[in-house]
Amino acid sequence: MNGRKYNWPDGKRIAVMVAFDVDGELLWLQRNKENERHLTNLSRGRYSTLQAVPRILRMLEELDIKTTFFTPAWIAEQYPEVVKAIADAGHEIGYHGWMHEAYDNYEKEVALMDKVDKIFSNLLGKIPVGNRGPLGNVYDFDVRLWAERGYVYSSNWRDSDGPFIHELDGKKIPLVELPKDSIFDDTCYDLYTECEPVRINLRGGREICEVWKDEFDSLAEQGRMMNLVMHPQFMGRPHNLRPFRELLQYMKEQGAWFATNEEVARFCLKEEGIATGPCVW
Ligand SMILES: [Zn+2]
Repeated sequence: MNGRKYNWPDGKRIAVMVAFDVDGELLWLQRNKENERHLTNLSRGRYSTLQAVPRILRMLEELDIKTTFFTPAWIAEQYPEVVKAIADAGHEIGYHGWMHEAYDNYEKEVALMDKVDKIFSNLLGKIPVGNRGPLGNVYDFDVRLWAERGYVYSSNWRDSDGPFIHELDGKKIPLVELPKDSIFDDTCYDLYTECEPVRINLRGGREICEVWKDEFDSLAEQGRMMNLVMHPQFMGRPHNLRPFRELLQYMKEQGAWFATNEEVARFCLKEEGIATGPCVW
């Protein structure tokens, strides 16, 4: 087993991070440059911030769930009120690039992170403490870079059902991996586009939630975790959000610990006896 089993707070059976990636128009701009002139595809991206995020925030408030929104800083520049509303509701903003990019060059990536920090610092008075790589891109220098910047977690690896502690030069460092997987990514079920690269995946929200329920039931039995990868422009549509809300209620009844990525990471570090500060978000 990669990573150890944790005894979650208050006897909870499993840690669940109801995480979203607020990619908006960038999801389309990155897929195909043609989308710069494809106004309807861009408007599908805008559905994310204008329609879906407010609906998701209402649902999370009603269920008393706090979570992480991995948000490219460009989205914060375009929609400062929306991103402020996310943070004001007590949710965490995680790192997800500026325009959903990641560089394979250390100096360029440092400059990018500085730029992102400045944008969030100006808008929210705090900066991200964890990374989810845009398009899942992570390079060989990244773990060291995140450690240098005081990050406490990464949500990128796919090789475990539970958290594990990263190592550098053979030593554990205060950086927790909170793995994700495509199975938890709504674009694998619900991304429809006839624009290159064509993807025609159309599954109903109930079908998606059936898959996630089976994952949840098994992982809860094993005391592990789930870290979701949802995009508001897809999961925030009513036909998806309605069954998803029912699933969240079921998870709650079945002993889920709903927490932000940062909260889970700091809990794991404490359990490992690795010094860490209080939650920033
Ligand atoms: Zn993304």
